[in-house]
Amino acid sequence: MICASDAADVRRQQCPIRGHSVATGETVVNADAICLHCGTLLWCVESRLIPVAESSSEMEEFGPCEIPDTFVIGRSVAGLIPKKAAYRYGVIAAAEFPNGILIAATPPLDNETVEMLRFIVNAPVLLVWADRYWVARQLASHYDTNDHMDGP
Ligand SMILES: [Zn+2]
Repeated sequence: MICASDAADVRRQQCPIRGHSVATGETVVNADAICLHCGTLLWCVESRLIPVAESSSEMEEFGPCEIPDTFVIGRSVAGLIPKKAAYRYGVIAAAEFPNGILIAATPPLDNETVEMLRFIVNAPVLLVWADRYWVARQLASHYDTNDHMDGP
């Protein structure tokens, strides 16, 4: 959750959609925020704002985002999606929000897959579009790659 050491410690960053000025807590590392200008749900990761899609229909606007390699996904969060499904769909659970599970995926992702992910994590799904190399690196670091069943 948000762990601002000082409520007044707020800085402004640019909304990636239209360059709107968005206030974020400087000490916030992994939290959700909403651009008050355009309503875009944003993920604040390592002091960068990355747009989050609440449904697959919005993915075209956002495109793949560069998530900092320094960002570390917790084991318990990644474990929300079983290895077989993670490799099959090329996704990884990245963070837990009060309103759902944030899943990093590579577009395109069809609605059937989103429904499947929602079923797997048993919670609303929020999507952050990631570079496929980033997803591949995360999968390799969170799952044992020696025995995965869905290799190419
Ligand atoms: Zn905006």
